[in-house]
Amino acid sequence: MVKENLNQVRENIKRTCEKTGRDPEDITLIAVSKTKPVSMLEEAYESRCRDFGENKVQEIMDKYPALPADIRWHMIGHLQRNKVKYIIDKVSLIHSVDSLRLAQEISSQAGKKQVDVDILVEVNIANEESKFGIPRQETFQLVEEISKLPYIHVKGLMTIAPFVTNPEDNRKYFREIRKLSVDITKKNIDNVTMSVLSMGMTGDYMVAIEEGATMVRVGTGIFGERNYGKNIHEKSSKERI
Ligand SMILES: *Cc1c(COP(=O)(O)O)cnc(C)c1O
Repeated sequence: MVKENLNQVRENIKRTCEKTGRDPEDITLIAVSKTKPVSMLEEAYESRCRDFGENKVQEIMDKYPALPADIRWHMIGHLQRNKVKYIIDKVSLIHSVDSLRLAQEISSQAGKKQVDVDILVEVNIANEESKFGIPRQETFQLVEEISKLPYIHVKGLMTIAPFVTNPEDNRKYFREIRKLSVDITKKNIDNVTMSVLSMGMTGDYMVAIEEGATMVRVGTGIFGERNYGKNIHEKSSKERI
């Protein structure tokens, strides 16, 4: 099932790119595997998937050693400062940086392990109270402050658009964040690029691609509905970190 779903999503990406004159190679499909067992990730891996998205530190730590080393892990969920140290040398991109204090901790832990860490700044583009991310008006300042820290590199912006039934309703937000990224690019800040726009999920990734997404985060559309009641690790429960 995972294989068929993946192929369907890839086909949709390809068609959307053709429609808008974009190169499908410029879009990274991140398979959001949160709550899903290792066996399903393996199935996706066998279908050439190398980018996986998780929103919990514990889940990355559990899955990381169980899967091939050439996987790129994306931390897409809210990250607490005291947990940064557990994943700092395991993830290829942290999508969810929304405060200077978190960025400082990432920088400090990266320094300790002598690694460089790429991050995105998460913007709460629709100003939803229920969502993490910084308000659009504060984005430039935060990017500028982070740019001065060692071992951490801003690569672009991420947003989680509102939950809507009609994806067209989110087009305006995707446009807004794309514009924000263009505006920040024009400021030419040292140690900052705006090459990544992480936006679009199962319900709206095609609209997001039409509006400039370079990374789309698809969970349900690949792995099916999530069942939060189930133990994903298929073995005895470990101590939670
Ligand atoms: C769960 C999640 C997704 C994937 O959501 P689907 O609707 O299942 O595609 C994408 N981004 C983030 C940040 C998530 O937490």
